[in-house]
Amino acid sequence: MMAQYLALKAEAEDCLLFYRMGDFFELFFDDAKVAAACLDIALTSRGEHGGEKIPMCGVPAHSAEGYLARLIKAGHRVAIADQTETPAEAKKRGGSKALVARGIVRVVTAGTLTEEALLDSRAANWCAAIGEAGGGIAIAAADISTGRFEIVESSAAGLAADLARLAPAETIVAEASEHAMLATGDRPKSEFDSGRGEQRLKALFGVATLDGFGHFSRAALAAAGGLVAYLDHTARGSLPFLRPPRLARASETMAIDQATRESLELVQTTSGQRKGSLLDATDRTVTGAGARLLAADIAAPLMDRAAIDARLDLVALFHDEPSLRETVRAALRALPDIGRALGRLVAGRGSPRDLGQLRDGLDGAWRLGERLDRVELRPALLGELTPQLRGHGALIDLYTRALVPAPPIDAGDGGYIAEGYDAALDDLRATGAGGRRAIAALEADYRQRTGINALKVRHNGVLGYHIEVPAKHADALMAPDSGFTHRQTLAGVVRFNAPDLHDVAMKLTQAGAHALAAEAAHLEDLIAAALDTRETVAATADALARLDVAAALAERAVEGGWVRPALADHACFEVEGGRHPVVEAALAVTGERFVANDCALSENSRLWLVTGPNMGGKSTFLRQNALIAVLAQAGSFVPAAKATLGLVDRLFSRVGASDNLARGRSTFMVEMVETAAILAQATPDSFVILDEVGRGTSTYDGLAIAWAVVEAIHEDNRCRCLFATHYHELTRLAERCDALSLHHVRVREWKGELVLLHEVADGPADRSYGLAVARLAGMPPGTVSRAKAVLAKLEAGREKTGGLAAGLDDLPLFAAAQEAEEEECDALRSEIESLDVDALSPRDALDMLYRLKALARDG
Ligand code: ATP
Repeated sequence: MMAQYLALKAEAEDCLLFYRMGDFFELFFDDAKVAAACLDIALTSRGEHGGEKIPMCGVPAHSAEGYLARLIKAGHRVAIADQTETPAEAKKRGGSKALVARGIVRVVTAGTLTEEALLDSRAANWCAAIGEAGGGIAIAAADISTGRFEIVESSAAGLAADLARLAPAETIVAEASEHAMLATGDRPKSEFDSGRGEQRLKALFGVATLDGFGHFSRAALAAAGGLVAYLDHTARGSLPFLRPPRLARASETMAIDQATRESLELVQTTSGQRKGSLLDATDRTVTGAGARLLAADIAAPLMDRAAIDARLDLVALFHDEPSLRETVRAALRALPDIGRALGRLVAGRGSPRDLGQLRDGLDGAWRLGERLDRVELRPALLGELTPQLRGHGALIDLYTRALVPAPPIDAGDGGYIAEGYDAALDDLRATGAGGRRAIAALEADYRQRTGINALKVRHNGVLGYHIEVPAKHADALMAPDSGFTHRQTLAGVVRFNAPDLHDVAMKLTQAGAHALAAEAAHLEDLIAAALDTRETVAATADALARLDVAAALAERAVEGGWVRPALADHACFEVEGGRHPVVEAALAVTGERFVANDCALSENSRLWLVTGPNMGGKSTFLRQNALIAVLAQAGSFVPAAKATLGLVDRLFSRVGASDNLARGRSTFMVEMVETAAILAQATPDSFVILDEVGRGTSTYDGLAIAWAVVEAIHEDNRCRCLFATHYHELTRLAERCDALSLHHVRVREWKGELVLLHEVADGPADRSYGLAVARLAGMPPGTVSRAKAVLAKLEAGREKTGGLAAGLDDLPLFAAAQEAEEEECDALRSEIESLDVDALSPRDALDMLYRLKALARDG
């Protein structure tokens, strides 16, 4: 057995090996140690290998899914070695000592899951491969839980961003690829050959040419080939569900790089949570497929005005007709996830319950389609979707006739084929039922004949049907002429057989076995029927998801007073009463009101420089406008009173290093690299938000960099840009940049206290409020007044040198601080010098000491 184990383990490479033994999957050696620690289960040992005890742990096969889920989540991959013959077959083959043959039947990895229990129903599960050939780079990605298959023609510069949009659970590359750092694993180079990739795709879809799917570059074929080979490898020859590949072009969607996605927290927060993200604040979908589609929409806002308007038209319909919206949402809520049920069926991991889900889902879709056909003035998108809902009459009919109302997950015990579907099966079941009645009658008869009321007819796997009596009554049945044959004596009970029971039991068992076989044959046919229509079933699933998204966005819009954005054909960005959906929701919890703000960027006012105190709401204002652009192009209403936007081709968001450092992530270097990328990539159609850029270094370096960046964006990139800064000096740029305008977040000082109004107003902030905010934050009064003294010196110094325009380098920061310090010492010294020690009473002396101490502390 160890030899078999070790051979399988060698084949499993770096995966943990689940080795089937009876009702358990066992793990040995290091695998056992890793799994026991990860799963928090007992580590035992068994036998010896090379003189050492073999560490071992195991999980029950029937509940293996839960354990698998935890291992996969912890980043492991698991190879399943199952028995490939029955013990009886092994005996026949090699005698009583023969080892049951085992083989790896599947490799379970994060990107190749289909099981409901292992997947998050509201998130897509992509497995991606990066291919390179002919100087190009492409990504092929499949979500085999639903059959989605996408190919993205990428580029060296855009690869990370394209991957970030998909956020794959698993990414593979060819061995020794330079992109290994973006991947979770590698595979042999030969599997990424573009020629072989083309052959693989043709074979997979049974076509002579791929032209019908679009034009694929050699890199695309390499990526797709590598991906299909990997899926084949993990599924051990039974390829999962893949729909024909969809060619995604980068130009179809708003370009959003990884840093921007993270900073805007589009589909998850910087700490990796869904809660707190834009997606979470927007998502009101009622189905898993809808949630997955909304996540994809928000991750990839569109660039095609017609397509965006088509989505918006549908949202508007549901927005304006509350009762229609409620009907649709109620119908969708009741539907099972047919996309994923189909995925499991195609992957050969389907169950009778998946067929039941398909039946109920398709039936619900049909009825929803009928309802939507009655809508007058249907938007074009609805006209495209409804026919997809109503194509499966024959399949629904078949499943309704064939299946019981709630089929089980486990096919092993039968009972999922409905009565009346197959007369022969009904007969077998009648025989079975008759047999069970006959056995009950025999039991009564035996009791009567023997006078033993405690006599029972029982069934188990070893003896089959048998008669059981308590030991004290056994003698009567032991008699040779009793008509009973002794089979087994246990503590307390004795078991017998009888010829008439044997006859009935035989018939019953045979009927049961035949019935099970008949059901299994039907199951195979019913699954085949689903596979035949998989393309159109998948299209129905897509249509349902799109309806869910549209109705959910309408629901969200009504709930939050969001409006339909108007799309302009020039680079403008006019938002009235804009709000940040996440911050607004967070404030609502504590009953606080979010202050809505306008933003108006246009050809002549492309760049807004926003100043004002910390905590004043600058970051929030910048982000809310970027989020509004994302939502609008994803086809959603937006949190504003009115919005008119020109399409954004690229979106950038950068946060100054010191801001990000608080989250322990960024450094000044990263900030500069990212800022450089913006200057290199932003076009006049782009939208850029820069928050405190330049803050991660010394004041003058930072100020100088910020200054130059603003100039470059204004002169060269000419994109729409919101730039928040603490550097007051930058406001001077308004004098020389005509498309730059100054804005500030308002504050009011009230009885010496700072009140943050969170209102964006025209013009620069009158001064900076750092010290006031520091006091607000509870900084010790001594430190605040010390800072005040230094500031006064600095400002005096600035006046002396003529300020910024006279040259940044002349400002004597340290000299000023030192001077302030010396002045304080002077105060202390003159106080001491003026003391007439001899004239002090003890009481005066004590008071003096207190005063000196206070002087030293507070300056
Ligand atoms: P810093 O310069 O320190 O980063 P900031 O000016 O960028 O500060 P934000 O982080 O945007 O300030 O906002 C600080 C807090 O103020 C938010 O967490 C929120 O609670 C509140 N706030 C911001 N904008 C608004 C608004 N429009 N209405 C109500 N509250 C707001």
